[in-house]
Amino acid sequence: MKEIFLCKYGEIVLKGANQSYFESTLVKELKFRLRFFGRFTISHAQSTIYIEPLENPNGENDIEGAFSMLTRVFGIVAIERAACAEKNMEDISRVVREYIPQFLEGKKTFKVESKRADKRFPLKSPEISAQVGGLVLSLCHSVKVDVHNPDVTVKVEVREKYAYVSAGTVKGAGGLPISTNGNGLLLLSGGIDSPVAGYMMAKRGVKIQSLHFESFPYTSERAKQKVMELASLVSRYSGNMKVHVVSLTHIQEELVKNCDEEYFTLLLRRFMMTIAQRVAEKFDCLALITGESLGQVASQTIQAINVTNAAVTLPVFRPCIGMDKEEIVQIARKIETFETSIQPYEDCCTVFTPKHPRTKPVLEKVIEQEKKVDFDALVEEALTTLTTEYVQADF
Ligand code: ATP
Ligand code: MG
Repeated sequence: MKEIFLCKYGEIVLKGANQSYFESTLVKELKFRLRFFGRFTISHAQSTIYIEPLENPNGENDIEGAFSMLTRVFGIVAIERAACAEKNMEDISRVVREYIPQFLEGKKTFKVESKRADKRFPLKSPEISAQVGGLVLSLCHSVKVDVHNPDVTVKVEVREKYAYVSAGTVKGAGGLPISTNGNGLLLLSGGIDSPVAGYMMAKRGVKIQSLHFESFPYTSERAKQKVMELASLVSRYSGNMKVHVVSLTHIQEELVKNCDEEYFTLLLRRFMMTIAQRVAEKFDCLALITGESLGQVASQTIQAINVTNAAVTLPVFRPCIGMDKEEIVQIARKIETFETSIQPYEDCCTVFTPKHPRTKPVLEKVIEQEKKVDFDALVEEALTTLTTEYVQADF
């Protein structure tokens, strides 16, 4: 019996004349990722992508792995594992008999939903459901029908080529296919928030690159390793990722030497944003992305955000801005970055943290402080420390 995946897409169907662009971008991404799991063919029709495993001379296809990977592909709202049947009730019944009981083990209730995309099929949807429902009841004596709140929904869809029988639909990652919204540069720290921010913008179709600021020897090699690990975890959703690293060591030393302590963090953040914009320009990124959440720390008050935002002209996406820590943590757990994020390694922002940071800074005062160092020269010097690594996603 042949098992296939039916991937349904969501928002893409609202794209009107651009729909085919979104579809072909999604199919390209799927082709790329599926190669890691064996041999599959991909086709699409009626807002659904069909993925069929092929004979694989190099060994077995990794069906479970492919299924789990599909739940991390943006643009797909639901994934159904289904068995194919010929388009007649005899064969549909045969497949129901062989395929469905495994999904009902230990379950109490079910219902059958049928759809007939091919209107030439002689039975109407309610008639298909009634026949299949009767068959399931005769196969699995311990289950009952519950049309309102069933444990399992058995689906029969009569489509163009085959009829599909399924009982295992899972939620997809949603959003828009990667790369349909250009490149964005994520300021990636080792914290909880920035990996979540990257995931959220990738979900809107942004192809993410990351920029990490280190402050060696005040920050350790292990701290950088942690950030690479976070980038790798986010890349399971966002795809392969360039990770740029820039050193802030000299800038921080200059700030400590020349500026008032209460302004350190704000000044550092203006340097970060300025350098990030330069890196973004160099690598064709059209927006910066940060994990800031309003009011979370002194540098994230509305006044502080005005001061740091004024350093750049690119749009700054802050998808966590209106979220509570608890909500951010929930997403971090879902995308499996949380456990890595909470490993206790120092971040450059936590080195030289002022005891009493300004929480309601005034831009003019900050700029006065900034004039105490050679801002432009320090930016140029920091950019000479730029290195880039390529993180290959472990889909
Ligand atoms: P996170 O949990 O993402 O570290 P945070 O709550 O600790 O965030 P801050 O340390 O103030 O907040 O940083 C705010 C944002 O600035 C981060 O979300 C991240 O986008 C960026 N950022 C902070 N430190 C770094 C760094 N070392 N390298 C790159 N970006 C950074
Ligand atoms: Mg941080």
